[in-house]
Amino acid sequence: MTERAPSEIARDTLKLLASRKLLPTPENYLTLYREIAGTPMVLPFPDEPLQQICAALPTQNPGQRKQRALFELAVKKRDWGSVQNALVGYCGFGMPAADGGAAPERTSLPSGMLAPLTAEFLAQIARLIEYTLPALGGDDARFSEQAQALLAAMRSATPDVSGVKSALANFSHRVSFAAEEQSEIKTGLLHLLQMVFQNIGGLIQDDEWLKGQVEALVRATTPPLSLRRLDEVELLLKDVIFKQTEAKGRASESQDQLRLLLSTFIERLSLMAESSSGFHDTIEDCARQMGQAKSMAEITPVLQATMVATQAMAQGTLQVRDELHGMRQKAEVAELQIAQLHMELDRASAQARHDPLTGALNRKGLDEAIEREVSNAKRKQRPMCMALLDIDNFKKINDTLGHGVGDAALAHLASVTRESLRPQDSLARYGGEEFVVLMPDTAMDPGIEAMTRLQRELSKRIFLEGTAKILITFSAGVAELAPDETGMEAIKRADQAMFLAKRAGKNRVLGA
Ligand code: GH3
Ligand code: MG
Ligand code: MG
Repeated sequence: MTERAPSEIARDTLKLLASRKLLPTPENYLTLYREIAGTPMVLPFPDEPLQQICAALPTQNPGQRKQRALFELAVKKRDWGSVQNALVGYCGFGMPAADGGAAPERTSLPSGMLAPLTAEFLAQIARLIEYTLPALGGDDARFSEQAQALLAAMRSATPDVSGVKSALANFSHRVSFAAEEQSEIKTGLLHLLQMVFQNIGGLIQDDEWLKGQVEALVRATTPPLSLRRLDEVELLLKDVIFKQTEAKGRASESQDQLRLLLSTFIERLSLMAESSSGFHDTIEDCARQMGQAKSMAEITPVLQATMVATQAMAQGTLQVRDELHGMRQKAEVAELQIAQLHMELDRASAQARHDPLTGALNRKGLDEAIEREVSNAKRKQRPMCMALLDIDNFKKINDTLGHGVGDAALAHLASVTRESLRPQDSLARYGGEEFVVLMPDTAMDPGIEAMTRLQRELSKRIFLEGTAKILITFSAGVAELAPDETGMEAIKRADQAMFLAKRAGKNRVLGA
């Protein structure tokens, strides 16, 4: 069919208007024109009236605001479908509640389809409140009563909507205070704990084993808190407390023995001194000094003086001198035992689960962390990554700047790593300058990203030693735990990838 020219259609339209005796209005002309042209009848888009409707729509909640904005956009685009969607969406957000009793409040559920939705919604909020309550603390009895009353009202078979609404408003008001208070309590307690730990730390002078524990406690109470870190420190303290009790018991046994020796010694001396009054005075003086002495260092000179006096007194006391000599040896052995026990305690603290130089987990700590994380990952069927990182050219740092600087560089790497990782990740010292990072809930790509981020962080936080700026770089291999593999097997694969990273030129991260 050939298309007709618009002027021809216009002429026929006018003829038809006349023959049908219709008024020559724009609407009638348009209707007939489209009839003749054979194009569908499309009414012009009513922008203005729709814009007026849009302006009249109240926006008293975020849902209404959003839907009105969509409605406005749909009108601008002249898209009827979107206009319809926006209006239907708007209806879903209902009418806002009447303000200050200006209009009558609805006191019961609306009938029809909204009723089940509201009941389910109330039950959901009730559950949410129940879950939140423990976090708000249970010290305020009135608050707990209010919460229980609210829960009962929400779970009633015929809930009084307006009652629940005002109870909810009161409750949320109190919750906002309670939550703030709990957070302040937590921060305050942590602060207090840290102060206590730091004070204890300041008092300790040479008990390394106690210093290690205090440092672990300060680390554990530094925000952000994580249950895992608290758990690790609890284990560390339990370990040390056990060894400490055992060693303390043995130390006090040795001290008792020492005390017994001293009193026997004094007794013998008094008996001996009876034969000479001058000697008696000397010995008494010695006995008094010994009674006050606290260590072998103080006892030794007194013992010497006593022995000199004893020798001068008579040949007959030779036997006693030998006896005294024997006692002194025994006392020295006892003192040595005490010193050894203290050393054992130092070792117990350091060897528990952390490496004392870097604060990272040691091999024992790593074994336990692997066991815990691997079984967690397998049970929850979540991915997990292990990274093995080895410092590049570390021997050169040691050789050029000394072992002490090397040690400080290791501690620096460990502290930057800890700060760059998430609280749930674990850092362990695997060997001299090799570290293992366990990353739960992490697949291969994010695992590699975490190590690359750590590389960037290390290059930003240059290690300073005196005036020297030392850039520490590392090469790392990352392995994602396979379903049928042990944690150690995954670490072995990460080690191989790390080796390839070294071969490829160092300062890089490779996936296994
Ligand atoms: P690469 O880039 O190939 O890893 O070279 P590298 O020099 O880092 O590796 P290499 O294995 O040759 O040397 C590691 C050095 O780390 C040797 C060792 O003396 C040193 N080291 C191991 N443990 C410690 C430590 O606790 N403190 C210090 N200062 N050095 C350590
Ligand atoms: Mg190495
Ligand atoms: Mg190295």
